[in-house]
Order: sequence, then C-alpha cells, then structure tokens
Amino acid sequence: MPYDLVVIGSGPGGYVCAIRAAQLGLKVAVVEKDKTFGGTCLNVGCIPSKALLHASELYAEAGHLFDKMGIRVGKAALDLPAMMAFKDEGVDGNVKGVAFLFRKNKVETFEGIGRILGAGRVEVRAANGRAETLDTKAIVIATGSDVARLGGVAIDEKRVVSSTGALVLDKVPDRLLVVGAGVIGLELGSVWRRLGAEVVVVEFLSRILPGMDEEVARQFQRMLQKQGMTFRLSSKVARIDSSGNRLKAFVEPAAGGAPETVEADIVLVAIGRVPYTEGLGVDAAGIKTDDRGRIVIDPHFRTNVPDIYAIGDVIAGPMLAHKAEDEGIAVAEILSGQAGHVNYDAIPNVVYTFPEIAAVGKTEEELKSAGIAYNVGKFPFTANGRARINLTTDGFVKILADARTDRVLGVHIVGADAGNMIAEAAIAMELGAAAEDIARTSHAHPTLTEAVKEAALAVEKRAIHM
Ligand SMILES: Cc1cc2nc3c(=O)[nH]c(=O)nc-3n(C[C@H](O)[C@H](O)[C@H](O)COP(=O)(O)OP(=O)(O)OC[C@H]3O[C@@H](n4cnc5c(N)ncnc54)[C@H](O)[C@@H]3O)c2cc1C
Repeated sequence: MPYDLVVIGSGPGGYVCAIRAAQLGLKVAVVEKDKTFGGTCLNVGCIPSKALLHASELYAEAGHLFDKMGIRVGKAALDLPAMMAFKDEGVDGNVKGVAFLFRKNKVETFEGIGRILGAGRVEVRAANGRAETLDTKAIVIATGSDVARLGGVAIDEKRVVSSTGALVLDKVPDRLLVVGAGVIGLELGSVWRRLGAEVVVVEFLSRILPGMDEEVARQFQRMLQKQGMTFRLSSKVARIDSSGNRLKAFVEPAAGGAPETVEADIVLVAIGRVPYTEGLGVDAAGIKTDDRGRIVIDPHFRTNVPDIYAIGDVIAGPMLAHKAEDEGIAVAEILSGQAGHVNYDAIPNVVYTFPEIAAVGKTEEELKSAGIAYNVGKFPFTANGRARINLTTDGFVKILADARTDRVLGVHIVGADAGNMIAEAAIAMELGAAAEDIARTSHAHPTLTEAVKEAALAVEKRAIHM
C-alpha cells in the first residue's frame, strides 16, 4: 500500500514532520542516508556542541568562580577523552530517542539515499547498492545543509576542520584559528578557549555576529576579548600552507592588500552552511532551486512540483533547528487539511557562549532602515539582584517597542541564561504583546528574568532598580 507521506531526511525538520503526520493519522516513511537519525542537529550540530559548551563552561567556572564562592576543589584538571565520551553519550541518547519516537508513532524507516523519481515516487538506494522504490501521495524534502567551503582552503577534518572536526579534536590546540565570527565559530572557539587554546578569529566583515543587533555584537566582542579571544575583523584567509608542522594561514585585509601569516595548530572553517541536495534528483524531477541552491517553495511549503514540499535548512530562512521543526509541524498539518503556519517574525536565535546572546524579532538597524519609530528599554544585569549574587553581571536586556502602539518589535539579551529567558519574549511577540504587558506581568524574585521586566518598564523610563 502506498504511503501518504515520505520524508527524506531525519533532522529536526524531517523527524518532527514525520511524527506529527503520524499523530494525525497519515501512513509515513522516513528515508535517512546516515546510520543514525537526528540529522546535523543531533549528530554534529546543536547537541554535541552544547555538550562541550556546558562541560567547558563548568570547567572554566571551576577555575575562576568556585574559589570565590568558597568551594575548594583544588585545581580543575581536564580529561579530554572523558569529556568527549560525555558528549558522545549525550548524542547517543538523543539519536536513540528519535528511533524510539519513530517506533512509538509507527513511522517506517529506510536507510539509504533518497532520490525523487517524480511526484509520488522515491527511490531508496542502500549503501550496498540495493534499491527499492516507495510510492507515496506526498513527499517532504528535509535534506538539510552542509558545511560551506572556503576557496583555497581544503578541509581535511584533521588540522583544517569544519564544525564536525572541531567537535572531535583529540587534543587542545595551542592556537586555534577560527575563520568566521558567526554563531558556530564563536561557540566552538569558546569551547577550545576555555579548555586552554589561544583563539584567533578572522572575520571578513567589520563586526562579529552579522545579522544580530549591532550594539549587542559590539559589547559581546569586548566580553570575548576579556576571555582572551582575539579578533581580526575586515580580514580574510586567502589560503593555508599545511606543509609544515604548524599551519600557516595567509590573512589579508578584506578590501585587498598584503597578506600576513598567522600560525595555528588547527584552523576551523566556520563561514556558514549551504543547502544539501546531493543525490536527491532535484533537477531531474524539475524542482526549482534559487541562485544559492535552496529549494524554492510557496507560502505553504509547496515546491513547483505538485505534492512535493520542502522544509528546514534546505529552504530559505534562518538555519535553525527549531525553525525546521516548526516548518515540519506546519507541513504535516497542511497535508492533513489543517492550517499549518510558521510566524517567522517570532523565531528566537541563541548563541550559547558565555554569556549567552538571545534575540527575537527586529534589530535596531532593521527598524531604522524600515523607517519604524521605536522606543528602547534597556536594563543591565549589574542592577539585577540574582545576577549579582551569581557573579554573572555581564550584559543587559534591550526591548524595542513600537513608538506609537508600544507593541514589542524586538528583544535582545546578552547575559547568563539568555537562551532560556528569550522564551517569554517569543511568547510576548507571538501574542502581539505590548512592552506594558511584560512590565505588568509578575516575574519571580530573585530571578534573572526580572531584568526583562525592568527593561519593559524602561521603555517608558520607569525602571525601578536603576
Ligand atoms: C555545530 C553546529 C551547531 C548548531 N547549533 C545549533 C543550535 O544550537 N540551535 C539551532 O537551532 N541550530 C543549530 N545548528 C543548526 C541546526 O543543526 C540546523 O538548523 C538543523 O539541523 C536543520 O535541520 P534540518 O532537518 O533542516 O536538516 P539536517 O539536520 O541537516 O538533517 C538533514 C538530514 O537529511 C539527511 N539526508 C540528506 N540528503 C538525503 C538523501 N538524499 N536521502 C536520505 N537522507 C538524506 C541527512 O543525512 C540528515 O540526516 C547548528 C549547526 C551546527 C553545524
């Protein structure tokens, strides 16, 4: 009997779509080319990076903060193989969790490369060359993304690594050169900095974290510099000489000019990710892609070929796991005759460094260029009681509210636990709240979230603790 839905790819977009469709009564199969489910996020992305960020943060805290709080544990020592084993265990538990959820929801799974033969037909080719064809009413493409390559720099995943190689280094490099000051470069740079590496970040643009609020990025760069990271902005890595014991990176001004060499033990190329459609048969099936290789969809996630949909990193939009998940749910609901929808104006974005950066909605730069009048409410963690006792006073909350209606247009947080705190801002934006609504909502004391309330009060210049 044919399937109602075949999902190609089991990352956060694909697996969530499959489970939601099965919950809604569809007969669903998932095709995955890798040995484990969960895609980039669970295997080589969100989950392993957060395991190393968490462990390395505690290691750094043990070195700096424990003594101050009266905890004497001696000098913290690093056991890198054990830390890697801790990370791998976390990944293993998560990917097995997806396999469990597939069984629980009666989602059938096929291991192999999925190729679209045309509307309603997907070929699955296993590693041993055996192929079978699945017939289905609808297909969802959720094949995700791959590491973006840098011209003149070959990634060998040993000394010149992508994020995947940077998650499995067997020794702390003396010097790590990170190419790209985006989220992934700064997160993995932070991990290795905390574990003892000297970290130099080269960024083509004149600022770090492109796309995020500029004030946030500027202050955050200073915090990272205090942690010992160094930055070469407006610069590019032209090529790498790997003939010697140490790598030699040729770093030139972005605008052109004489190169300087920077030596490093490991170079991490973290200049972004590109949509992945290799072997999928997109061209043969006549599925349209844009100039960046992303699958083109309409507002209901439909490609130009009937009954073929696409979600996640392989389409336009922020390359985030929760965005892929939300799209997976929306498509499953659309396929079941419901009104699935994603509100792209309220998708939070988190950088899991220390302190964390979290944002939802518009930046000041976006509001200015759109000509929207806004008020700013800002509150620093130095004035928050909980942050003071926790010794985490770096950072602030900034709320941008429409000058005419007071509606919240953007919230930006730099601070410990910002990633958890942004949830209330996302709900506020989803519900169309005004800054006044946040200000009048009771926030438990003493918590860091009181800084969100105070920033909302500050929109009308009536913060209490400042
Ligand atoms: C180091 C790192 C850290 C990250 N941290 C975060 C984070 O903290 N938070 C966050 O929101 N996002 C994070 N991301 C981004 C996040 O991982 C992606 O946005 C997310 O995984 C996209 O989900 P997806 O389902 O679209 O694709 P993917 O997760 O890439 O999954 C696609 C799946 O499709 C399979 N596939 C591809 N082609 C075929 C085919 N033809 N046949 C069968 N199977 C196929 C692939 O093997 C893969 O399993 C991180 C990424 C990286 C690299």
